[in-house]
Amino acid sequence: MVETAVTVKREEMTLRINEIFYSIQGEGTYALYPCVFIRLTGCNLRCSWCDTTYSFHEGEHRTLKNIQNEIATYPTRWVEITGGEPLLQRNVYELFDLLHELEKCVLLETSGSILLDKVPSFVHIVLDMKAPGSGESEKNRYENLKLLKPTDDLKIVVKNKEDFNFAVSLIEEHSLMDSLDKPAIVQPVFGALEPHELGEWVKFAKVPLRLGMQLHKYIYDPKQRAV
Ligand code: SF4
Repeated sequence: MVETAVTVKREEMTLRINEIFYSIQGEGTYALYPCVFIRLTGCNLRCSWCDTTYSFHEGEHRTLKNIQNEIATYPTRWVEITGGEPLLQRNVYELFDLLHELEKCVLLETSGSILLDKVPSFVHIVLDMKAPGSGESEKNRYENLKLLKPTDDLKIVVKNKEDFNFAVSLIEEHSLMDSLDKPAIVQPVFGALEPHELGEWVKFAKVPLRLGMQLHKYIYDPKQRAV
């Protein structure tokens, strides 16, 4: 008997999904745009200030067809794939292609611990490099910095001055002020560092930076999920 490989049609492929919801984008270049969020289950990191720990294990397997059907109910072209760490699930690359074919503007939030070389160029990457305060900076893959497009976002979440100094050094050492269209984002850990304090550091930094905010935590209840 000849064995044949079983080919799974793309629409039948599955991803483990923690939640899908429609909200106002709170972060980055697309802040304040109406956006659908697809949060994938699972993360290989354990950042000290993580606000989505529920994404580590909770979730159900859904087919790409089922995901597509839900996305079609939301009247927006911006879709962010987030986590957890979305690049841990290999079918996420099929989801990128599917959303692109649906003419969505695809955003990806990723931690910097997984190589970005297979992410298609149509995806707007938000690369969340980890500062020491996260407890996970040793997992950073610095070769990812060379894989960013000029239009992508680089973000560093900052808990204290040491984290801020890490962000400045990162930008200097990798000449990121020349390779990115916009300054890197430094974003305060909500509840741990006051935005105005970080703003003062940004104003007088020796490299160009942007102050980032989790605006959804001001628009909605900061403890509310799925916003
Ligand atoms: S990478 Fe993101 S989801 Fe994972 S632990 Fe860090 S903040 Fe949480």
